[in-house]
Order: sequence, then C-alpha cells, then structure tokens
Amino acid sequence: MKILYLSPEMHPYAKVGGLADVAGSLPAALADRGHEVVVVLPKYGGIDVDEFGIQPTDLSARFHLDGRPAGGRFWKAAPRPNLDVYFLEHHDYYAREGLYGGPGGDYPDNLQRFANWCRAALELARALDWPPDVLHANDWQSAPAVIYLKTLCAADPFFARTKALFTIHNMAYQGYFPKSLLPATGLPWDVFTMDGVEFYGDINLMKGGIMYADWISTVSRTYAREIQTPEFGCGLEGVLEFKKKRLSGILNGVDYSEWNPESDPHIAAQYSARDLAGKARCKAALQEEFDLEARANIPVLGMVARLVEQKGIDLVAAILPDLLSEHRIQLVVLGNGERHYQEILERLAAEYPHALGLRVGFDPPLAHRIEAGADMFLMPSRHEPCGLNQMYSLRYGTPPIVRKTGGLADTIVNYSPRTGKGNGFVFSKPEAAELGKAVRAALKLFAERKAWTAVMKNAMAADFSWDKSAVEYEKLYRQLAPEPAIKKATARKRKRP
Ligand code: ADP
Repeated sequence: MKILYLSPEMHPYAKVGGLADVAGSLPAALADRGHEVVVVLPKYGGIDVDEFGIQPTDLSARFHLDGRPAGGRFWKAAPRPNLDVYFLEHHDYYAREGLYGGPGGDYPDNLQRFANWCRAALELARALDWPPDVLHANDWQSAPAVIYLKTLCAADPFFARTKALFTIHNMAYQGYFPKSLLPATGLPWDVFTMDGVEFYGDINLMKGGIMYADWISTVSRTYAREIQTPEFGCGLEGVLEFKKKRLSGILNGVDYSEWNPESDPHIAAQYSARDLAGKARCKAALQEEFDLEARANIPVLGMVARLVEQKGIDLVAAILPDLLSEHRIQLVVLGNGERHYQEILERLAAEYPHALGLRVGFDPPLAHRIEAGADMFLMPSRHEPCGLNQMYSLRYGTPPIVRKTGGLADTIVNYSPRTGKGNGFVFSKPEAAELGKAVRAALKLFAERKAWTAVMKNAMAADFSWDKSAVEYEKLYRQLAPEPAIKKATARKRKRP
C-alpha cells in the first residue's frame, strides 16, 4: 500500500518525546513489510542535513494561505528501501531550533506553521504523482491534513481513494487557536461548526482530526477506553464517545535495535538476561556520573521524563523525604520541561545531594545510561497514552514502578512473590501514598536477591517489538482502504510462476 505518514517529530531527525520514537519506527517497519511509505517533516533548524544525508530536491509546493504565498521546497532522505522522508523547507516557519516553541513558550504562529506543512504534504503527493491509499496523521499538528483531504481535496480525483487515519498520541495537547486565525489555514468557514473544528468558540485541531478522519486510533487499548471519560478526555470525551465505533487502540512498539542492552553503544558495559554482569558495571558508572556513592547494595531508582504535570513528578517529590529517612536509596532524574517541576527537583537535589542526582536537559545517550544503570524505573504518570520508557526499562532489566493507566496498564503486570509472575510494580490511584507503597514493595523485593533476579528476568523476557504493532496498523489500513478487486487479481496473477 501507499502510506503518507505525517508526524511533527521523528527519530533520529527531530525529537521532543515518544512520538518521535514511534515515527522513527513504525514507517520503517511498514516499509520493511513491503509498503511504500512517504514521511513528511518540517525542516526544523536543528536538523543536521549532513549527518543524515538529507539532499535538496527540485520538488516544491506552491500555494497561497490567507492571500500570502506559502508552501516551500522539499529536501529528502531515503533511509531504507520503500521509505522516503521529505523535509519541508520554509525559512520563516521552520528554521528555528525548537519544534513547537522556545524558552518563551509555544510559537504564536504554530497554526500557520503546521497548516502550511500539512497542505504542502498533500501537494507533495501530487507532485510525486503518488496517490496515497492512506493518509496517516499523528496528533493535532497533522490534523489539518485530514481536514484538507476531506474538504478542499474532497472532489479531487487524485485523492479519491485516499482514506484518513488519525492517531492520538496525547489528549493533553489539542492545538487550540482563536477563531480569527481560521483564514490563515485556507480552510473554508464551513469547517467551523460543532461537527468540525469549532470547540467552545475556538479552533480545536485535535477535534477536527477526530471529526474528519475515517478512523481514529490511539496508542493503547486502555487509553482508547479512558479518553471517552472526563478524567482523560480533556474535554473531548463526548466527541470520542460519539466516534467510538471508529476508534481503536494499538500499542506502540519498541525499536530493539536502538534500545537493547546487548548492543547499546551508549552504556558502560553490554549485558543480557543470561549474563547480567554488565548491568552492575552500568550501575557503578551511573552512580559515578552523578557523584553518588558507587555501592551495589544501594538501590538506584531512575526517571527520564518530560517535566510536565502528566508525569507525576509532584508525587515523587511528596514521597522522597520519608523514603530517604527510612531507606538508603539513590534517585537519578533526567528531564526537561516546565520550570515549576524543574524547581521542585532542584530544591530536592540541593537538600539531598548524596541521594538525588539531577540533570536538566535533553540527553538521549544519558537516557540509555539511566535505563541500564538504575535498578528500578519510576513512571508514576497521571495519564500515559502508551509510554515507551517503561517498555525500554523492561528490556534493560530495570523493573518499572507505574500507575495503572493507559499503556502502562497494558504492559506492566504487578509482581507477585507468591506466583513469581509479573514484570514490575503497579499502583492504582495517582496519590503519593499509593506510589510510596509500590516503591516500598519494590525496595523490599530488591533486598531479596533471588526474587529480584526473578522480576528482572520476567521484565527482560517481555517482547513489545514493532513487528506486532505494525501488523495491526497494516490490518487497519487494509480495512480502511481495501485493495480494489482488479488490483488484487493482477497481483495474484503476477505471483504465479
Ligand atoms: P512522552 O512521549 O510522553 O514524552 P514516552 O515514555 O512515550 O513519553 O517517551 C519518552 C521518550 O522521550 C523516550 O524515548 C525517552 O527516553 C525520551 N526522553 C524524555 N525526556 C528526555 C530527556 N530529558 N532526555 C532524553 N530523552 C528523553
């Protein structure tokens, strides 16, 4: 099939969070399964064209938005057979360091930036004479592509067969803009209704994506159910409930070529479930890196997260003083994001310099070293659509402590000393006391070497590779855009010797 895949971030080119990992893996897995995949990204200022062999092309998209010339020129990388990644160059919109904003907050022209990119992506398909079977749009930034497809391009024979799948990676970010900006998208006022992008008098792009898509998916089955409720729907629960017959959940996978302690180039020593010696070296190296006492019997808790409300940093801060008075533990945190959470962590790090190691910043190799060097991984998210870090920590033999929500609920099973089953530690309510209980259960088990090795091995045995998830997406694409009978017959004929 021909799949036009739109994501505002993609590993290894541009990353803020887990969406980049997904966009770095799923299109590649689909390409390996024989599909033709074209991904389009904005050419952000931080993308190093030389590092990734990104070349200029003579393709460009030219159109007007709000009476002004828009579009841009395309650059291209071809990282593997069947997969082309195009980068839309537009100096005013994308030649900035940040993807969505800078130190002062979100960029004020984000609507124009992402609308321009979406429109240009559809124009690219035309320029390539490559009508996609499926437009797969991810998160609010790519929602305008779905809306353009179903409005401005609705009568265009070129897109007659193209179906739109809209994937929600996080309901907490919906793309709200004032009504007055609608003309900047080039969309007609017809879309500004209750059945379209209008939401309490403003533009809500996430809502538009949901309303216009042929199918909506999200990144775990539990999250697909949760977002139909007020606690998780962030105001769109009613819309999602209304669309529930066209809504499903597919768990993200892990790129084990990137996240694997047997081959990870970023860690102090490689290791596997059969031979865990290297993990002890990774732990000692991590303790040294954070100026913490390098002792094997002190449990190290690790955390890598965007510093935002969702991630439960306040819960960790609330339990830390008591935990430290009861137990000899160390906590290592890597994160960046909101100043408020950064300050909470900085205060704690100043108060407990021998127990808390903190790095504020975005440092992917360090994320690997924490996964490998920590004994257990903290992920007390209030909501977590899928979550990748808990799956990474499983592979690194670093059992996660998680709240039972979204993808965490679908991947982590609470360890039971009685049955010996389970790959981590799970609590239910997003409350400090519950998190504290789960951490204490993990610490108790850590002291019993045999039981701890059992939970580590259970964790390392889990398999969340992309192959499974890619097959599920493939099924969904085929259900949306079945091959025409005539095409199928020719394909069958061609296969015969
Ligand atoms: P989310 O998408 O909500 O950020 P996920 O757990 O799905 O959460 O994915 C987070 C991804 O971003 C992981 O690959 C994680 O290692 C990475 N990450 C998050 N914060 C940082 C950071 N400060 N430095 C490096 N990598 C980070």
